[in-house]
Amino acid sequence: MSPWETVVKRFDSVARFINLSDELKKSLLVPFREVTVEVPVRMDDGRLEVFMGYRVQHNGARGPMKGGIRYHQSADLDEVRALAALMSLKTALVDVPFGGAKGGVTVDPSQLSRDELERVTRRFISRISIVLGPYRDIPAPDVGTNPGIMAWVLDEYGRKYGYTPGVVTGKPISLGGSYGRIEATGRGAVIAAREAARDCGVELKGARVSVQGFGNVGYHAAKFLVEEGAKIVAIADVGGAIHAEEGIDIEHLSGHVRETGTVRGYDRADEIEGSSIPRVPCEVFLPAALGGVLKTAEDAESVEAKLIVEGANDPIHPEADAVLERKGVTVLPDILANAGGVTVSYLEWSQNLQQFRWEAEQINRELEKVMVRSYRNVYEFAQEKGISLRLAAYALGVNRLAEAEQQRGTF
Ligand code: NAD
Repeated sequence: MSPWETVVKRFDSVARFINLSDELKKSLLVPFREVTVEVPVRMDDGRLEVFMGYRVQHNGARGPMKGGIRYHQSADLDEVRALAALMSLKTALVDVPFGGAKGGVTVDPSQLSRDELERVTRRFISRISIVLGPYRDIPAPDVGTNPGIMAWVLDEYGRKYGYTPGVVTGKPISLGGSYGRIEATGRGAVIAAREAARDCGVELKGARVSVQGFGNVGYHAAKFLVEEGAKIVAIADVGGAIHAEEGIDIEHLSGHVRETGTVRGYDRADEIEGSSIPRVPCEVFLPAALGGVLKTAEDAESVEAKLIVEGANDPIHPEADAVLERKGVTVLPDILANAGGVTVSYLEWSQNLQQFRWEAEQINRELEKVMVRSYRNVYEFAQEKGISLRLAAYALGVNRLAEAEQQRGTF
């Protein structure tokens, strides 16, 4: 099942559950606009490479469209479209005044020099800039991109339209970025995990955690989980996976990753198969890499965790979801678990529009409030209806989108 097929399937079951009319369902599902661009770039050795770039604007009924830019060799229109739809539901669920969008370039950034990366970014942004803008569509970092790349996005957009800090979030602090944005997704995931753990009877203090992905989300979530007293027993990244029953020192491992580029070869843990990471004996599993980690019923059968926190987007497909529900595993769904990033992006954008900077404490306080409120809404709705947190979160998101579309008078 492709990422977009997964979204369609989930949307169908939500629409049935909330009795959404067919015409509204179709209109909410189909993206508002999809842009595909050629990204020709002169490489350091003189060759011309042509990459493909995408920006999908899914829904803007609730505000300017918002979503990250992914650089990955498997990024394509189907995946970007699916991720854009998840953004519309996410912003609606946590009630920040944005719609949903996503971007991607089919490129492996680890194979590019710094200069090539800059040229790819500038060419891509130059070609999609006509559909961007602080009141139209606002990108941010995702897999394979970071604050440094957002700085080039800001600069390239500014060359055409003048200084516009609100056109992109996740920027470096020195260029109008917000305190707390870099760690926001991981921090938000752990706030939601803390609330969910209480409700599903998992004691985070002393809990064993297995983490997939040690980038922005995986690293920060692991760090905050350790602050809650949890023990990170396994970590995987694209280069390999490691395991240590006594717990892994995240900061020490991070030094190793800075030096070598991967968790592999870390001498204070055993090496394990990357594919075994969801099956590691633990109380909490935190996917924080790519989608499609647990695709089949069989994948889900072998999971031992009692709580899964979807730091990543779309890591669990519907067939696996059904088995996890039957097994009594609590799944904190992506549109809730990783919404801390877009929440602080909203605060960054608000600061840019006001030309004012907030203190880190204020940002973190707001993030805590939004995550706790959103989790409580989802949990209470799920309890009331006797449904999973996933169905509850998606139903609340689709309902808000539908309400905004109808109030605009389209229907
Ligand atoms: P990142 O590029 O910083 O890190 C990605 C990590 O995943 C890296 O450690 C990489 O080695 C690892 N990885 C890649 N392929 C892997 C594989 N096959 N097996 C194991 N590990 C693999 O990306 P990120 O920003 O941390 O994003 C991670 C996930 O979180 C994505 O699904 C993204 O959409 C989602 N997300 C990110 C944000 C954000 O603010 N950055 C917000 C919401 C959701």
